[in-house]
Amino acid sequence: MALSSKLKQLFSTSPKKNNWPGLIEAYKPWLPVTKKTPIITLHEGATPLIEVKSISKRIGKGVQVYVKYDGLNPTGSFKDRGMTMAISKAKEDGCEAVICASTGNTSASAAAYASKGGMRAFVIIPDGYVAQGKLAQALVYGAEVLAIKGNFDKALDIVQELSEKYPITLVNSVNPFRLQGQKTAAFEIIENLGCAPDWLCIPMGNAGNISAYWMGFQEYFIAKKSRKLPRMMGFQAIGSAPLVKGHTVANPETIATAIRIGNPVNKEKAMIAKSSSNGKFSSVTDSEIINAYKILGREEGIFCEPASAASIAGLLQLKEEVPKDSKIVCVLTGNGLKDPDCAISNNDSVFHSGVEANITEITKTMGL
Ligand SMILES: *Cc1c(COP(=O)(O)O)cnc(C)c1O
Repeated sequence: MALSSKLKQLFSTSPKKNNWPGLIEAYKPWLPVTKKTPIITLHEGATPLIEVKSISKRIGKGVQVYVKYDGLNPTGSFKDRGMTMAISKAKEDGCEAVICASTGNTSASAAAYASKGGMRAFVIIPDGYVAQGKLAQALVYGAEVLAIKGNFDKALDIVQELSEKYPITLVNSVNPFRLQGQKTAAFEIIENLGCAPDWLCIPMGNAGNISAYWMGFQEYFIAKKSRKLPRMMGFQAIGSAPLVKGHTVANPETIATAIRIGNPVNKEKAMIAKSSSNGKFSSVTDSEIINAYKILGREEGIFCEPASAASIAGLLQLKEEVPKDSKIVCVLTGNGLKDPDCAISNNDSVFHSGVEANITEITKTMGL
């Protein structure tokens, strides 16, 4: 074949992903937008669903496990799905500033979309408990960052009060447009898998995402785009597990800072998702989280945040309960690059530092 026709062939079949317009454009009929809504997008969504055989093998019984790798969104977490909606609607309302409390990813996402939409972003974070990558993003995207001497729950109380007193839009997951955007991840899973999975495993912090997925799965079920509904399996870190314990946790602690939340704002919605899907909530230890985090990195080439690994840790914990031949999707909510400190102190790799720059020394170190 001549080179020119080969090239022509290549370019005539450009994959869908290259033309992906972002999730509002892609799922317009399912979202509360009108012709007047200015769409503020960074082309979020359309993240890959990847089969993870190393996990399927550990479960056995013919089970197929997939991950929804939402850490591949523009700012590296699923928060972008909700933020494109929240910021577009804020813009439609003529709002000039947004505010959020954040364990890190909401602030990174709010800052990016506010910047794209020409708005100011104020972010309130717990001092010392936000992963480096997330803080770096908020600063680079031009947010005004206030690190408070208090945890996430305190920060959320403050931003709720501020947004009532001043003309600043709150973009935490109490903002209903966040969940509307986030439900599109359920649509994508059904489209990729051909049906809903048997189980959806997901980490829970404020429990907005599990509520959004449940809404998405139900909408596709009602519209007959899916024949079944998944069991919603939600996981929290053991030191930060209000939804498992059934009461608020005053001083939540976990290595998974994205889910270090003691008083989830979406608890009622999450409890409904659990009971109406015959789901289950469970807690995992930090060491179970790190074990899952390492398996994904070493055996799958997937680098996620510790909080995201809670979905895999939870699935491994409930291994005996997994029905045979089932299809399971675990949501990987954020990108591993967000938290380099955790990565560097939690891996089993060999790192030789200070090696002399000559072949003899290097081959000796390599054991050749
Ligand atoms: C926000 C976040 C969560 C928790 O999501 P909720 O909707 O608050 O339950 C989990 N993982 C990561 C990486 C997050 O950024």
